[in-house]
Amino acid sequence: MTETKVLIVEDEQAIREMVAFHLTRAGYSVLQAEDCRTARALLADERPEIALIDWMLPDISGLELTRMLKRDKDFKELPVIMLTARAEEHDKVSGLDSGADDYITKPFSPRELIARIKAVLRRSAGNDGELLAMGILQLDVLGQRVKSAGDAVRLGPTEYRLLEFFMTHPDRVYSRAQLLDRVWGANVYVEERTVDVHVRRLRKALSDSHADKYIQTVRGSGYRFSIKDK
Ligand code: CA
Repeated sequence: MTETKVLIVEDEQAIREMVAFHLTRAGYSVLQAEDCRTARALLADERPEIALIDWMLPDISGLELTRMLKRDKDFKELPVIMLTARAEEHDKVSGLDSGADDYITKPFSPRELIARIKAVLRRSAGNDGELLAMGILQLDVLGQRVKSAGDAVRLGPTEYRLLEFFMTHPDRVYSRAQLLDRVWGANVYVEERTVDVHVRRLRKALSDSHADKYIQTVRGSGYRFSIKDK
């Protein structure tokens, strides 16, 4: 099996090398570019499976690079994860419709980034047969089945989508509004406490195996999925 090739476009050398180190260790092959010009030059000969593009780059913005790629017939299928420095940039990335497939805010953990890469690649390949595993939880994306410590867990459709979102976005706090946006969809009008109702149901379904502890309440902020202790 050939290694999945990841292009990272990031001018901050420390971040670029940290990402390259962890991705290489996780079995990916990594192409590095410090600006858009270098990225374009690399793309003349290389065909990465996914690109991680920083928002703020020294020549043109990562947003503009993403748009250029999405307009290019050779690269429009290339999935892009934007790396953003602040939450406001998040909103802009989604609001401006750059065509990015997902985005992640700095600082991020290598585990979070790799989970995100796998989720985006799985979606873009339409290959949903993969199992997601985190701690004692296993999620079969194609069958929409969940196991905890080896036992089947029955979930409603919303609880399932919530758990899938959590497992592909670990170790980060999401507000109720962000969860509504990402799990329920931006145009659905429901109250924020709806999130609490479904989180409660999800926790209850996971409580027999004690996997409910992975879904952590962060007071005043929202929820975080983590297999590490608080
Ligand atoms: Ca930058």
